[in-house]
Amino acid sequence: MDFSLTSEQEKLKNIAKEFAEKELAPKARELDKNPVFPRDLLKRICELGIGVGAIIPKEYGGNAIGHLARILVNIEIAKASAFMGLALQTIPIGLWVLLHFGNEEQKKKYIPEVAKGEKIACLAATEPTGGSDIANVNTVAKKVGNNYVVNGSKVFITLAPESDVCLFTAKTEGGVSLFVVEKGTEGLILGPADEREGLRAAKVGGIRFKDCKIPEENLVGKEGQGLRAALKGITEVGRPGNIAMAVGISEAVFEKTVQFLKDRKFYGGKALAGLQGIQFTLADMYMEIEASKLLAYKVGWLLDQGKTGVEIGKEIAATKAYTSEVAKKVAFKAISLCGAYGTLPGFDLIRYLRDALETDASAGANNVCRMLLGKELTGILSLGG
Ligand SMILES: Cc1cc2nc3c(=O)[nH]c(=O)nc-3n(C[C@H](O)[C@H](O)[C@H](O)COP(=O)(O)OP(=O)(O)OC[C@H]3O[C@@H](n4cnc5c(N)ncnc54)[C@H](O)[C@@H]3O)c2cc1C
Repeated sequence: MDFSLTSEQEKLKNIAKEFAEKELAPKARELDKNPVFPRDLLKRICELGIGVGAIIPKEYGGNAIGHLARILVNIEIAKASAFMGLALQTIPIGLWVLLHFGNEEQKKKYIPEVAKGEKIACLAATEPTGGSDIANVNTVAKKVGNNYVVNGSKVFITLAPESDVCLFTAKTEGGVSLFVVEKGTEGLILGPADEREGLRAAKVGGIRFKDCKIPEENLVGKEGQGLRAALKGITEVGRPGNIAMAVGISEAVFEKTVQFLKDRKFYGGKALAGLQGIQFTLADMYMEIEASKLLAYKVGWLLDQGKTGVEIGKEIAATKAYTSEVAKKVAFKAISLCGAYGTLPGFDLIRYLRDALETDASAGANNVCRMLLGKELTGILSLGG
C-alpha cells in the first residue's frame, strides 16, 4: 500500500490550490450574495487542465488526469468556493454518460466543447414526483415518426438555466431512456434557478418540456438503457464530485477555525486554541476530516484501477454519506467554537454550513447511500419502514 501521490498529482493539486486561493476565493462571498455563475472562471479552470474534462479522454477534448487527481483538484476548488465544486461535480456526469453510452457522432458533437468549458451541460434525472426514487420517471418521450415528442418536468438540476446541452431521462415504449437536447430547441425551458440557501451561484433549477420535438438520433444508447446510464454517471462521477466538495468544505472550515482560535486571545493573553476543551473538539474534527480525506482518495484510486460504480458501489456510497455528514458536523461545530464571530457573514462559516447542507441530497441523498450500503451488507434491498 502506497499513500504517496505521484509528482503529477501533486502538481495538479498545487495548480488548483493556487488558482482557487488567488482567483476564486476573493469572489466567493460576493457570488454567494449576488449569485451569478461565472462562466469565465469555469473556462479558466478548464484551460488549466483541471476542470470539466479531468476524466475525459484527450481525443474528446479532455485532460485524462484520472479520478484521484480529479478528487484532489476538486477539493481545492471547493475549499475556495463550494458552488464551483458542485459545477465540477455535475457537468462531467453527462459527458461520462455520453462517453459510455453515446455513439461516435454524439461523442464528437457534444463532448469536446463542454470538456473545454466552452459550453455547459447538465444531467436531468430528478423529478418532482421522483426524488430519491429515480426510476419513477413521469417525463414522457413519445415516438412520432422519426422524432420523439417530450413532455414533463425535472427539478433541482445544477446549472439548468446556464446549460447549452441537457441530458435527461424520459419514459419511452422500451422503458426509461436517455436523450440529449440542445438549448434553443422549441419546447425546452431551462430554468429559472431556484431561490436556494446553499451553493447559490451553481444556479440549481427546473427544466420543462412542452411538446419538445427531438430527432431520434438524440437518443443516447438504446431505449430502456436510460436508468443504467444515468446511474453510472451519478455513481462514478457525481458522487466522487460530491465527496470532493464535502471534503473541501470541511478542510476550509477547519483551517479558518484553527486560525481564528489561535488569534483570539484573552484570559491574560492566552489563545483560545490553547484551552483543552477547545483542543478536544478540534481533535475530533481533525480525526473525522482525515478519515474523510482518506476515504475520498481511496474512491479515486479504486476508480483509477478501472473499477466500475457497480463493483465499488459500497465504497462510493459509504464515502459519499460519511464525507457529507462530516462536512455538516464540522461546519456546525466550528460556528459554535468561534462564538459570535462564527455567525458574521464576513467570516464565511455560515456560508460553508449552508453549502455543506446541500451535500446531503445531491448525488443520491445520504439515506439513499445508507440504503445502498444496507443492501450490500445484508443482500436485502429495504425500501420501506
Ligand atoms: C445542490 C443540488 C444539486 C442537484 N443537482 C442535480 C442535478 O444536476 N441533476 C439531477 O437530476 N438532480 C439533482 N439534484 C437532485 C437530487 O438528486 C435530489 O435532491 C435527490 O435525489 C433527493 O431527492 P429529493 O430532494 O426529492 O428528496 P427525497 O427523495 O424526497 O428524500 C427526502 C428525504 O428522505 C430520505 N429518503 C429517501 N428515500 C429513502 C429511503 N429509501 N430510506 C430512508 N430514507 C430515504 C432522503 O435521504 C432525504 O433525507 C440536486 C440536488 C441538490 C440539493
